[in-house]
Amino acid sequence: MSRVPRSAWAIKQLLREDLRGRTAYGAPQLDVPVALNTNENSYAVPAAVVDEIVAAIATVAPGLNRYPDREFTDLRGDLAAYLSRSGTSVSPEQVWAGNGSNEVLLHLLQAFGGQGRTALGFTPAYSMHPIIAATTGTSWADGLRGVGVHSTSGGGAFDLSVESAVAQAEQLDPHLVFLCSPNNPTGTALTLDVVTAVHDAAPHAVIVVDEAYAEFARPGTPSALTLLEGRPRLVVTRTMSKAFAFAGGRLGYLAADPELVDALRLVRMPYHLSSPAQAIARATLRHADTMLGTVDVIKEQRDRLVAELATLGLDPVPSDANFVLFGGLRDSHVTWQALLDRGVLVRDVGIAHYLRVTAGTPEETTAFLDAMAALPQDHLSPEHLEGQS
Ligand code: PMP
Repeated sequence: MSRVPRSAWAIKQLLREDLRGRTAYGAPQLDVPVALNTNENSYAVPAAVVDEIVAAIATVAPGLNRYPDREFTDLRGDLAAYLSRSGTSVSPEQVWAGNGSNEVLLHLLQAFGGQGRTALGFTPAYSMHPIIAATTGTSWADGLRGVGVHSTSGGGAFDLSVESAVAQAEQLDPHLVFLCSPNNPTGTALTLDVVTAVHDAAPHAVIVVDEAYAEFARPGTPSALTLLEGRPRLVVTRTMSKAFAFAGGRLGYLAADPELVDALRLVRMPYHLSSPAQAIARATLRHADTMLGTVDVIKEQRDRLVAELATLGLDPVPSDANFVLFGGLRDSHVTWQALLDRGVLVRDVGIAHYLRVTAGTPEETTAFLDAMAALPQDHLSPEHLEGQS
């Protein structure tokens, strides 16, 4: 008789070899007064939209005995209309959606990655890109961000230069390339010449531009949506989790060539978007202007963070997103803990001497800046302490 393995030790032996020893995504979910660690929108959904969401659920509830529209036809239309507001016309056939853009990224890796295939990203970037790649058995190539002047920030240590990105793409000839703009965790957006250059330098790859934070970009920052025409290998992913204040609703989407979108139907689970999920996303999209009403105040807080962190002797990276990465710390983890002890949760993104903070309400921003200002001077790295004197 075969023995049923019961211990954790036995489970480890059953796990796929390539997953053994890996750690799961795990941004802390702590009950703290000021939570600025996952780049959510701090503002609650306005009451008028809440009413519409409740009404939308009431409308679909009697039909929950049936499966939802597998092709989420109406939602696709609404998302296409929302994207087209920016001036680039996007048709419903060009749109795909999932439970958060993480699921959309998963579909892309399931369809175009997999065993024996390689995805290239430029670190530091969104930490889930390599994790999702791993779940699909896709090899991950950790490309580097070179110093250059090709971001809208005007240059900096985390910028990705055309030359560096092209050289890495040409050398690897990957099956997928992930570009993140505005980039998490560094905050800066790419100029479009990086996207077109990488697209041309990786002729066998699907090029994914993750624009989760696009709505927060500084004026004049172009979207890769404008590049879709004539580039059937290019994909732009977006989410309702950030500017749209809908992280709990779990709705992410992408725009690409209809043929590429059609291929994603091969890998998604049937009926992956529930009827309530489709209905509440549509109700929220009907109030797009209201939902996006907090973007300007959040951008103000972001710019305030950059200005005031510099005044405190730190090195904030200019940002096109709803968060700011800042350096100049002696020990990121020690400062992270000291802030948490004062009720402020920020993100340790694993870059030595740096932390990332989300731009929240003015009150939350003040609480964070006050906590930073109250820290003993020795939280600054020795070089930054010298700069203070
Ligand atoms: N892309 C980037 C760059 C992100 O920062 C995030 C969330 N932190 C996502 C995608 C995924 O967000 P969601 O699944 O909520 O759409």
